[in-house]
This record gives sequence, structure tokens and C-alpha cells, in this order.
Amino acid sequence: MYHKNAVLSSVALDKTAVILYNCFMKRKIIMLISAMLTVFFVASPDEQPAIEAIKLVTIDAPVMTQSALVQLTIEAEPATESSLKDVGGGVLDVPEEIPPEKIYDNEWAFYLIDRQNPLPDDFEIALYSLGEEDEWWREIDERLAEYALQMLEAARLDGIHIVIIEGFRTIERQQEIYDRRINYYLGLGLNLAQSELVAGTEVAYPGASEHNAGIAIDFASGSYDVYSFENTREFAWLAENAHDYGFILRYPEDAMHITGFIYEPWHWRFVGVERARELAESGLTLEEFLMQLYAE
Ligand SMILES: [Zn+2]
Repeated sequence: MYHKNAVLSSVALDKTAVILYNCFMKRKIIMLISAMLTVFFVASPDEQPAIEAIKLVTIDAPVMTQSALVQLTIEAEPATESSLKDVGGGVLDVPEEIPPEKIYDNEWAFYLIDRQNPLPDDFEIALYSLGEEDEWWREIDERLAEYALQMLEAARLDGIHIVIIEGFRTIERQQEIYDRRINYYLGLGLNLAQSELVAGTEVAYPGASEHNAGIAIDFASGSYDVYSFENTREFAWLAENAHDYGFILRYPEDAMHITGFIYEPWHWRFVGVERARELAESGLTLEEFLMQLYAE
């Protein structure tokens, strides 16, 4: 017999140099560390008090709105012809009605938030609680609440029981999770830069998380185990239907070189129904989709 933790630590130390050289391309190594982290996370009984800490932070969280984010959304103003008609005293042959450009539902939710595009300092949000107060943290931006509720109800009618692990997080809470993940890797023997590098593929930087923006939800099956979620009927149902309710799988498999994040089958991001359908049809990540959109 050997001591499991000792073996895990030595594996991590052996891989340190490789991680540095291949930080975003060697997904398997990162996933190995992730898996190790899972063991630590799930098996560690001292995680339980942290859940209580979440609730305390929730209660104290300021109520905010996110008007400042409007400038980050895609513009889709209706086209007007007034400026086109009068040219040099003549009148151009233009149709009376120019069909407006497509106006999408929930344009406010269609933007990128990441380390390079964090929330503005004056970010505010109006929250809606999707669940009972004494259950897990289930608050989200109130504007997407009806979509999430309709999706969960549709799943329920199909015999699929999806549970919410987490919605909105305060930046303070994000900092706690981020620091704890870095400390975990420091404890395995990685240096600070290495620890930040690896932790950053699993936990968004404080202020740069879609959870901080209240526009992402972590789902699970009834087991509440996000790491096995991919293999459940609940995940299959979401993969089939979530886009019809405005949600996309934000960090898909084999896309870490684009998204910067490991595969997160539990993490679903609201972008509006029409954009979600377009994204699902395209098979692109949000980053790729936006790049393509802006390149046009
Ligand atoms: Zn998440």
C-alpha cells in the first residue's frame, strides 16, 4: 500500500516543468491536477463550513444593476433611411421601408467577460432567487430568471431533475475560491506563478467570473456532483435543449486554448435565446463566435 496523497503530490511535482512549457495546450495534465483537486475537494470534510460562509456573504451582498455593461453588448439598432434620401438635391431610389437589422432578445446578456474584460467597478445587479432561502445559493440576474425557471420546468416535465449548484457570486466570494485554489497548488509544491497559471484555468479571476455577473449557473444532477455531470441524463437534456432557453455550454471540451478554461460540463451561460441557438448551431465557443461577428 502507498499513501495516496504522497503519490498525487509527487506526480504534480514531476509535471511542474511540463505545465510551465505547455500551459494551455497540455489539457490532460491540467485535468489530472483537476481530478486530484476533485478528490481533495469532495473528500475534504472541512469544506462544509465554507458553505455556511457563502450564505453569510450572500446576505450581505449589495443589490446591483448592470447598466454599465450595455456598452459592451452588440449594437443592433434599426436602420433608418432618412440620411440616405437627400443627396445633392436629388432623391435616391430607396425603398420606403428598410427592414431593420435583426434585433435579438436579451442583447444585454451577449457580451464577453474574462480576465481581459472584467466587470466595471460600478457594476450593479438586481438579483432573483431561484430557490428556497435555506437551500444552495441560487441567485441570478433577475432578467434571466424566467428563462432558467422555464428550462428547469421543461426538464422536469421530461422527467429530468436538474439542480442548481451555484448562480451569482460576490467578488469577495470569488476571491476566496480563487485564493483557496492557488493555495492548494502551492501546497502541492508549485510556485506562485505556476499555481496562478493552473488555478486560473479552473477558477475565474475575481471580478472576471460570469458568476460575478450573475449570468451563469452551475447545474448538476441529483447527486450534486458536478464532476460526473457530463455522464448524466440531466447533462444530455441540457445539451439538447438549453439553447432554446438562452443558455450555452460555456467552456466545452478541448477548447481551453480558446476559452482559457478546462471543460466545465456544469457551467451554463445565458446569452439570450436567439444568440444561444446561433451559437449551438455554429458549434463555436463564445470567443470564436464574437471574433467571427466582429470580423464581418
Ligand atoms: Zn460555473
